[in-house]
Amino acid sequence: MLEVEGLAVAYGAIEAVKDVTFTVEEGRIVCLVGTNGAGKTTTLRAVSGLLRPHRGEIRFLGRPIHHLPAHTVLALGIAHCPEGRRLFTGMTVEENLMLGAHLRRDSEIAKDMLRVYELFPVLGERQGQRAGLLSGGEQQMLAIGRAVMARPKLLMFDEPTMGLAPIMIQRILDTIALLRDQGTTVLMVEQNALAALTLADHGHVIDLGRTTLSGPGRELLADPRVRSAYLG
Ligand code: ATP
Repeated sequence: MLEVEGLAVAYGAIEAVKDVTFTVEEGRIVCLVGTNGAGKTTTLRAVSGLLRPHRGEIRFLGRPIHHLPAHTVLALGIAHCPEGRRLFTGMTVEENLMLGAHLRRDSEIAKDMLRVYELFPVLGERQGQRAGLLSGGEQQMLAIGRAVMARPKLLMFDEPTMGLAPIMIQRILDTIALLRDQGTTVLMVEQNALAALTLADHGHVIDLGRTTLSGPGRELLADPRVRSAYLG
C-alpha cells in the first residue's frame, strides 16, 4: 500500500532523515521504532505531505505522493494522528470529530460518527463538552476518532500512548488492533518498543535517520540487537 524508498528530509542544513526505506502492506500494523531524534516523526510528516523530502520516493497505492500537498495526501486516504494530539481545545468533541471529515462529500459521515462513539463511548457521553476539558487519555481517543472520521485507507499514529496511564495505554493499543481488524492499515511510531513490536505485524528500526533492521514484530522483539538497544 505504502512504499518509502531512500527517503531523506532536512530542516535547513540538518538532515534529520538520511536513508529510510520500508513498506506497509494493506491490512497490517507497521511500527517504526527508534530512540529520541532518530527521525520517526519526520518520516511520518513527509508521508503526510507536511515536509518535502529532498531525496527518495514515497508511493501510495502505486502512485508517487512525495510532491503532493498535505490536503491532497489526506484526500487520497492517508490520515495522520499527530504527536501531542493537536485538538481544537475550545471546540466541542463533536466539532473536533466533524473537522476530521471536512474533506468528505459522502453521506456516511453520521454513521461514522456513531462508529467512533461505539469505539469510545466516553466521547459519546461528552459530545457537547469542550475538548480541552477531557483527560489526557480521552483527548487521545478524540484525536484517534478525528482521524477515523476521515475514513482513511492508511492511518498514521505518532506516539499514541505518550504520557498515558498503563490502563489507558492498553486501551489505545487494543483500539489500534481493532481498527486494523476492521480493515484500516496502520503505520505508527512508538517509543515504547516492547508494546509497539508486540502489537505490530511488522517493525522497522530507525537509527540516526536510517532504517537499520526490519522484520515481523515478534522477530524484532527477539533480536538481541533490538533487545540491547531498545528493551534494556
Ligand atoms: P522523538 O521520538 O524524540 O520525537 P523522532 O525519531 O520522532 O524522535 P524527529 O522528531 O523526526 O525524531 O527528529 C529527528 C531530528 O530532527 C532530531 O535531531 C530533531 O532535533 C530534528 N528536528 C526535528 N524537528 C525539527 C525542526 N522543526 N527544526 C530543526 N530540527 C528538527
